[in-house]
Amino acid sequence: MAQEITVTSPLLPDLEEFTSQLKNIWDSKWITNNGQFHQQLEEALCGYFKIPYISLFTNGTLPLLTALQALRISGEVITTPYSFVATTHSIWWNGIKPVFVDIDPSNCGINPDCIEAAITPRTTAIMPVHCYGKPCDIEGIQEVADKYGLKVIYDAAHAFGVEVNGRSILEFGDLSTLSFHATKVFNTIEGGALVMHDSSTKRRVDYLKNFGFESETEVIAPGINSKMDEVRAVYGLLNLRQVDSAIEARRQVAIKYREELGDIPGIRYFEDMPGVKHNYSYFPIFVDAAVYGMSRDELYGKMKEKGILGRRYFYPLISSFSTYRGLPSARPENLPQATKIANEVICLPMHHQLSDSDVAKVIDVIRNKE
Ligand SMILES: *Cc1c(COP(=O)(O)O)cnc(C)c1O
Repeated sequence: MAQEITVTSPLLPDLEEFTSQLKNIWDSKWITNNGQFHQQLEEALCGYFKIPYISLFTNGTLPLLTALQALRISGEVITTPYSFVATTHSIWWNGIKPVFVDIDPSNCGINPDCIEAAITPRTTAIMPVHCYGKPCDIEGIQEVADKYGLKVIYDAAHAFGVEVNGRSILEFGDLSTLSFHATKVFNTIEGGALVMHDSSTKRRVDYLKNFGFESETEVIAPGINSKMDEVRAVYGLLNLRQVDSAIEARRQVAIKYREELGDIPGIRYFEDMPGVKHNYSYFPIFVDAAVYGMSRDELYGKMKEKGILGRRYFYPLISSFSTYRGLPSARPENLPQATKIANEVICLPMHHQLSDSDVAKVIDVIRNKE
């Protein structure tokens, strides 16, 4: 069989440049704990996003856990079932009850109209996801949050580099988290970050990710260990130099997909949103089986037979996993749009090295259903 076409492919720094940087780390003998490259990467990312504060983490799940700790969130948190499972797990690991609300199919983010009905006296925060890097209804969510005095923590794992009317998407809400996992637009192999808007929160988060140590002898809170090491920080600095060209290559792939998919009945996909700088992190299509003439899973299977490895992000819904399905908010009747979308979606292969002939092969299967 011909080579498989994978859903993603990691952005890798030049190996020679990376190894020559490793020499600097070896010479310094400073390999973790806020070293020079850690500091440089925080500074470089602040510059890239045009934001004042960021704190690096060792993956994209720990900033979610830490965000809830930093804001002392308790009780109930309203969130989306249509995400990667880490979003809800971070709430559960904090001993907080997740409350699922439905999504808006136009951006796959949480629907602000559904939030209000889910609020109880125990609700303290909302945790939405900028799914596929598409901005949530930021204004609508903030309006409900302000009315009820709730914190907003965005899981922005998909939203590296996304801007809304010239402002980084990370400026919205109380806190935002990023993932720099190998599969994301920008990666440090494993890695992540927490973005905050003031220096005191930055200080508190930096303590929390280092066991709560404020000084050699003072521990101010039950912290965790989530420090990024120097090797991955320097890898990140090199990748940051080429991330814009990787995003541009992804944009070209999105343009080709849209050109080809436009005349296939029963296949829905997203156009760019006005005023938004997208990162093209994913290219989801939504299969309307009745119109298309084949179910999502059949198409998924046909693609697989041809070595095209799409992914059903996000299926199954988080609310259907055993940990969560007993919750009253997890009932499918409470989540009709999310349930429908989860049964329609396939994320097509999308990365910076996808060739024209790869795109043509993907389109062939979708067009010919074989
Ligand atoms: C990838 C991802 C995470 C977790 O990030 P890791 O770096 O893999 O821990 C969290 N939320 C969403 C929406 C993700 O896609």
